[in-house]
Amino acid sequence: GEGLPRPDRTRVMVVANQKGGVGKTTSTVNLAASLALHGARVLVVDLDPQGNASTALGIDHHAEVPSIYDVLVESMPLSEVVQPVPDVEGLFCAPATIDLAGAEIELVSLVARESRLQRAIQAYDQPLDYILIDCPPSLGLLTVNALVAGAEVLIPIQCEYYALEGLGQLLRNVDLVRGHLNPDLHVSTILLTMYDGRTRLASQVAEEVRTHFGKEVLRTSIPRSVRISEAPSYGQTVLTYDPGSSGSLSYLEAAREIALRGVGVHYEAQHAPASE
Ligand code: ADP
Ligand code: MG
Repeated sequence: GEGLPRPDRTRVMVVANQKGGVGKTTSTVNLAASLALHGARVLVVDLDPQGNASTALGIDHHAEVPSIYDVLVESMPLSEVVQPVPDVEGLFCAPATIDLAGAEIELVSLVARESRLQRAIQAYDQPLDYILIDCPPSLGLLTVNALVAGAEVLIPIQCEYYALEGLGQLLRNVDLVRGHLNPDLHVSTILLTMYDGRTRLASQVAEEVRTHFGKEVLRTSIPRSVRISEAPSYGQTVLTYDPGSSGSLSYLEAAREIALRGVGVHYEAQHAPASE
């Protein structure tokens, strides 16, 4: 794929929003595949017991497969659960199985219950440019583990009425985790998803989100697209399922913005006429 600047250290991005159905999983797998197609080495950590990210990446995650549950609860090394994603070079997945549904409770009685994912990631010795963590739609111990493990929070926001509702709780949790457990944690990226520019509501919500968050909001938004929603049932991201589709191109562009921001280049600068 086309090369983009690579970060000098692994960027760990937590994809979170306690609302379900806003595009967390879809954005995690498609951004991860896009970054890999741009030449990066990327690991997706599936932290949702539903295992939707694993499914979408075509990764086997039936009950006997070594999974992120074993890492969190049984202290299994991350390297023992990571699988390469078929068809996308440089892309890997730590799958979730249904066991993970019990982890929220099992973690409570374990030592360092909030930092088990962080420890596992720190001990992982394969070179990576990005780790994207797909969170469940709740703010329990699984999401707290993600917030302790990462420095960046990426919030997908669906362009609909009530889009900002409930975000306050996530932002307070981010502040709490920053204050007590992870001083580097910050909301680095907001991604508008399922955007339909033809509706007035979508553009109003987009406007409202840009006013509220400012420069964290990516210039690129993801359109509502049937191809995006079809891809997971083929165990594929939209990048391989329909490479030329608007959904595919928008995720590639959003990934480009993320990569450029990581080295301090803001998107507009790329398109500004050269000075002199
Ligand atoms: P979450 O992980 O936040 O629960 P998902 O990523 O699973 O949300 O998305 C919820 C539903 O919306 C899924 O059925 C998914 O296929 C669909 N979806 C996500 N993004 C888009 C999009 N840009 N266009 C059309 N459908 C989408
Ligand atoms: Mg999901």
